[in-house]
Amino acid sequence: MPTSSVAPRHVIVIAGAGPRAVGILERLAHNLDEVAPGIGLDIHLVDPHPPGGGRIWRSAQSGLLKLNSMAQDVTMFTDARSTIEGPIAPGPSLAEWAEGIRRREITDVDLGAELRAEAEALTGASFPTRRLQSHYLDWFFRRAVASLPPSVIVTTHATRVERVSADERVWLTDGRSIDADLVLYALGHIESAPEDEHRQLSRFAQRYGLTYLPPSYTADADTSGLHAGDDVIVRGMGLAAVDLVVLLTEGRGGRFERTGHGLAYRPSGAEPRLFLGSRRGVPYHSKIASALVLPRAEPRYFTAQVAHRLAASAARISLKADVWPLIAKDALWAYYRELFLGHPERVSTAWDGFAARFEQLAWNAPELLELVERAVPDPIDRLDFAALDRPLADAAFADAATLQEHLRDYIRTDLRQRSAPEHSATLALFMSLLGSLFTLGGIVDDAPWTARSRVEEFDGWWMNLFSFIASGPPAHRLEELLALSEAGIVHFLGGDLTVTTDPRRGFVARSGAVPGEVATAALVDARLPASDVSRTTNPAIRSLLESGLGSIQIVTDDDYSGTTGRLRVNRADSRVVDVDGRPHPRRFAVGAYTSAPFVGAFSRPGTDAVSFRENDRVARAMLRELAQVAEGRAAGRMRTRLPAVSTNG
Ligand SMILES: Cc1cc2nc3c(=O)[nH]c(=O)nc-3n(C[C@H](O)[C@H](O)[C@H](O)COP(=O)(O)OP(=O)(O)OC[C@H]3O[C@@H](n4cnc5c(N)ncnc54)[C@H](O)[C@@H]3O)c2cc1C
Repeated sequence: MPTSSVAPRHVIVIAGAGPRAVGILERLAHNLDEVAPGIGLDIHLVDPHPPGGGRIWRSAQSGLLKLNSMAQDVTMFTDARSTIEGPIAPGPSLAEWAEGIRRREITDVDLGAELRAEAEALTGASFPTRRLQSHYLDWFFRRAVASLPPSVIVTTHATRVERVSADERVWLTDGRSIDADLVLYALGHIESAPEDEHRQLSRFAQRYGLTYLPPSYTADADTSGLHAGDDVIVRGMGLAAVDLVVLLTEGRGGRFERTGHGLAYRPSGAEPRLFLGSRRGVPYHSKIASALVLPRAEPRYFTAQVAHRLAASAARISLKADVWPLIAKDALWAYYRELFLGHPERVSTAWDGFAARFEQLAWNAPELLELVERAVPDPIDRLDFAALDRPLADAAFADAATLQEHLRDYIRTDLRQRSAPEHSATLALFMSLLGSLFTLGGIVDDAPWTARSRVEEFDGWWMNLFSFIASGPPAHRLEELLALSEAGIVHFLGGDLTVTTDPRRGFVARSGAVPGEVATAALVDARLPASDVSRTTNPAIRSLLESGLGSIQIVTDDDYSGTTGRLRVNRADSRVVDVDGRPHPRRFAVGAYTSAPFVGAFSRPGTDAVSFRENDRVARAMLRELAQVAEGRAAGRMRTRLPAVSTNG
């Protein structure tokens, strides 16, 4: 309830109510007393999906879809490692929350029988369902609201923000409007208009009575046009493809059964036949289930100091040419240190000699390969980035059957490398790349990148490589893929996949690795839509750009000009930057579609997570702005607020 009927109230509208929005709400709650004490605040959360989970983590989705993170690696709460200006407000990670429910210490959650059973059985290493995560996020949201003082009222609106007019009136899809002092855009994973190729494929499918699904969020895709027994080309082998395969197999009534020979798939008969291919032709590397023997390796080459030196460099730098060699060398160092010292039985020389020689060589020097070949007898233990990135690069197969065998062997090896204790070096590799990702995030906005590097190498090359190596599916998903391949439901097409159209045969897939082609009446582009604000269909962003109050990040130098496709925000406080480069006093934006360095995942406990730091910074900047508005109003310089929500269309 408002503290006083005379004190002017302030209004914040938050467009989007997913994890980032509620994370900032929590920071508003904990910073309010210090930054803007005593102010009356109305916070309006606008999202067609329930607050906390929002669209991606709503509970109304298939119970088969899971997180790609382990329960112990997901938290919404700051902790002692968080270097934030505001107060730390600790709370349970997803795994600890489930444990709290098990122990009856957390009782204000209504899970239902199925999710309660999941919570009861959950361990830190489990990959939880998205539905369970939805309840964790809802619980977090409710706690954040409960931690607000009575002077703050939170109202949720199950609709969308259409536009915000120049006087900060926020117009909703249902025709109402809200007069705001501040607007926070937390729109997350945005939709884009189809690219030319996807439009052409849709037209082709319509014309010839075929089925085509363009890039989409798999949970939202309409797969009803993919019928039992249909042959379907699936282009893409990343996380969207994994979700699609789950929905079209187990989701259609098939079952996985553990047998004496591993996992077997028992079809329901309702599945289509899936032909999977991509540029690499292999699935993403599985998540790692082993544990490090040694303490985690500290970076030696791409350290925070080196990163800051690079950021201050007078000359232009490129991610691929100047930074990747350091990232790769750190990763190689971490990998071989764990292998040599953690598993000395797997190497034939001592670490000290190897390390001394390693120090002198570039990450890709032929001498390094020779050094490794001499010291590491089993090829499975050698880390070769080129082979890791493109495992089918030089492969040629006599026929499709040989390719299937090869891919199944490849997946079995990957599973062994990423789960057997003797291969814990793969975890050291992962930790090193993750550390470099964070270090890079710290300078992405400040360093003098060449324009080409900024546009083409960050989101394109680097994030793709990182996701392929470090952000793949849980191991059991790859085991399932193996079982589906053995059951004849999944077929692999090979790498360098091309798909063409033929009015007589439909969609035609070819790979350079194997003779022949596959023609089908259905094609699915299994990937997320590109996050590009210049092509988005999201009305809130479109109108922001059209008004000129928001702008697209453009990077230019002497030989290249391009856009990152991101909404420009001011690095210090995430204020929206207008076309003339001025930060907007009243509008803020966070999330994947903004120019702020994006960490596309939930925060891990104890890592001083970037998104917590950003949430805290943004919340404090918003409160500071409100405190100034309050001062201005108190001095009688500003108008008194009208009733905040009006129903006129
Ligand atoms: C399919 C998928 C799977 C993922 N899996 C994992 C995982 O396993 N582990 C992990 O760590 N990370 C994962 N992520 C990363 C993900 O980025 C974060 O977990 C998180 O969802 C980001 O939160 P957000 O609030 O920024 O965006 P979102 O979760 O996208 O939330 C944004 C919200 O804004 C709303 N919105 C958009 N436009 C408007 C509008 N005009 N008006 C009102 N509301 C609007 C949407 O409905 C949505 O609810 C995954 C991402 C995706 C897309």
